[in-house]
Amino acid sequence: MSAVANTNVVRLVMLGPPGAGKGTQAEKFARSRGVPRISTGDILREAVHAGTEMGRAAREVMDAGRLVGDDIMIGIVRERLSRPDTRAGFVLEGFPRTVAQARALDTLIDEVAPLVVVDIEVPEEVLVRRLQIRRICSTCGWTAPPGTTVCAKCGGSLVQRTDDNEAVVRERLAVYLRSTQPIVDFYQSRNTFRSVDGDQTEESVAADLSAAVASVVGGFR
Ligand code: AMP
Repeated sequence: MSAVANTNVVRLVMLGPPGAGKGTQAEKFARSRGVPRISTGDILREAVHAGTEMGRAAREVMDAGRLVGDDIMIGIVRERLSRPDTRAGFVLEGFPRTVAQARALDTLIDEVAPLVVVDIEVPEEVLVRRLQIRRICSTCGWTAPPGTTVCAKCGGSLVQRTDDNEAVVRERLAVYLRSTQPIVDFYQSRNTFRSVDGDQTEESVAADLSAAVASVVGGFR
């Protein structure tokens, strides 16, 4: 950590395969620290929903379970991290997904605070099961907890994500192992890297995540 490090600023990258619970945990953690949660999957889905040029281009790639190009993704994150609300910190989720994106991220942030990287680990059979029962709101895109029938945020109806059917899920997990697992190796040797067991209750994962972050940046006020 540099001499000017500011431990009130939390910059967290959540790694983990699809279905690891990154979104749920990222949202909870970001809310508790008062920092924005930046989900590149959500940004892309919003673009698809809005029918923008980027959304139209991304849709086919997403529906096939493949990765959107690094240049597009790095551009999205560069723009998002340049906004003032990220000065107090951020939780990045779904990015980086390739080593090229991880390298680019290092160039996008200063040294005021460390980049904490937490990998959420979950066995593959658990992921496949979770993704197949996952439902999101057809109106606002919120991911609903298992067992709910309507969106708790806006009352919208719940649907399966178009990329959560079994064939695409298997492809996304294969893509994860091939393209994204190497970034665990990229970060692993840093003293700001931690792993958390994601095959526990949501509360236990949240507690372990907080402890992991605290062990890197020290206690929070
Ligand atoms: P997610 O909601 O994080 O599971 O992302 C859904 C889909 O969006 C992924 O399967 C990819 O097609 C695309 N996507 C999201 N983030 C990235 C990224 N950092 N790099 C490439 N593609 C991404």
